Amino acid sequence: MVNTYIPERAMFIYAHPDDIEFGVAGTAALWAKNGSKVTYVIITDGNVGSHEADMTAEKLAQIRRAEQTAAADVVGASCIYLGYHDGLLQPTMELRKELVRLIRKHQPNVVVCGDPTLYFPSGDNYINHPDHRAAAQAAIDAVFPAAEMHLLYPDLDAEGLPPHKVNYVYISWPQKVPNYYVDITETIDLKIEALRQHVSQLGDWNPEERIKEWNSGSGKQVGFKYAESFRKITLKEVESS
Ligand SMILES: [Zn+2]
Repeated sequence: MVNTYIPERAMFIYAHPDDIEFGVAGTAALWAKNGSKVTYVIITDGNVGSHEADMTAEKLAQIRRAEQTAAADVVGASCIYLGYHDGLLQPTMELRKELVRLIRKHQPNVVVCGDPTLYFPSGDNYINHPDHRAAAQAAIDAVFPAAEMHLLYPDLDAEGLPPHKVNYVYISWPQKVPNYYVDITETIDLKIEALRQHVSQLGDWNPEERIKEWNSGSGKQVGFKYAESFRKITLKEVESS
């Protein structure tokens, strides 16, 4: 299914700085460009992603937050950092509640996240990072049903954060066949520019060719030059979609 739905508010929930840029920043850019309020929730600081001998986890966390903020600026999104330690993420009740709090506060129509069931993405030479699965699990469990149950977190209600029902969840890199494609032809350059902000991860590598290869592969499925693909879960239709 193909369509050009632009949510009023969207929340992207991912484990690491750069996960959004590799996967779904073309969609974020398209939505922001068309007036969506786009919020990124980055759960860990990506603070073990270095092979440099003199790097510390604290220093790297600062670098990666700055890179992520620059990447979000490229597409017009804002960032919330939860500050969890990279490499140790678990879909705990504490994290679920933090995400419920954010969902209730920002009231997204769409939550975009990964696939918690994805262990072996493609081919026989890659294992999906456990933080990616944990972040996706926590995000999905926060969306449904926790964010919408008024008896679950009475303290949040008391804080002025009543239940919120998310309309759609977009699962990136889905284990099952995608059922939804976003045309990112007009924003793929922004996506690549956003990804380039992650200098500590990319080094001298130019990501343009790889990103265009991935997204043209998805685009071919539906006749777009470049697309990002999702498994779209509809919890409650909005009229404009
Ligand atoms: Zn990652």
